[in-house]
Amino acid sequence: MAEKQLVIFDFDWSMADQDTDRWIFEVNAPDIRRKMEDLEDKVQWTDLVAQSLREGHEKGMKREDVENALKTIPYHPAMVRAVTDLKARGNTTFLCLSNANSVFISTILEEKKLQSLFTEIITNPAEWDASGLLKLRRRVDPDGPQHTCKVGCSPNMCKGDELDAFLDRHGHAFDRMVYVGDGSNDFCPALRLRSQDTVCCRTFGGLPKRIARDGVKFGLKCKVKYWTGAWELEEIFSTL
Ligand SMILES: [Mg+2]
Repeated sequence: MAEKQLVIFDFDWSMADQDTDRWIFEVNAPDIRRKMEDLEDKVQWTDLVAQSLREGHEKGMKREDVENALKTIPYHPAMVRAVTDLKARGNTTFLCLSNANSVFISTILEEKKLQSLFTEIITNPAEWDASGLLKLRRRVDPDGPQHTCKVGCSPNMCKGDELDAFLDRHGHAFDRMVYVGDGSNDFCPALRLRSQDTVCCRTFGGLPKRIARDGVKFGLKCKVKYWTGAWELEEIFSTL
């Protein structure tokens, strides 16, 4: 009988070939994009994106401008094939674990006809208001109890805790887990994987650096496979 698998996807620079938060401003408001670069070290990232969305809205950036940018984001055809083929084989559950937001992700997945791919999308909540402003909040409410991650997750969400909570909800029923990520905040969930699991690490971004520097020190147990283009991830997926 086929093994039960869980494939966990980061979204920006993992499933999509760009960063959604930055891309929509690069397309619609490069002045705000520049300001984000300047404020990145001073304001928590999710708060900075929320603030930038408000500023864009005030300057006339419309809902359809944001949606059009999302629909044209770089997204490799091999990624669509890779996940579609793996899902069609039937023994794989897909989870999305992302620091982007629910609207960015669902808009892109609908455009790619992948809206039913994921069993759950765990991310920051967002919704359009009647005026066309996208209202974005941190997943972890800044006014409530905070997560206690010491690995380096951003205050808006600990991806490792979210993965563990998902596994609790699903009875830890997976023979094998495969995590696809690129960023330094994908290191914490990778530490929760077991020796039979694999992290598919993009060759650029913070994750390969973090694995090289801290993998042994933090006791990373899973196998590591590296990929650059989605066609290479497709090759890895064809062996699962
Ligand atoms: Mg990423």
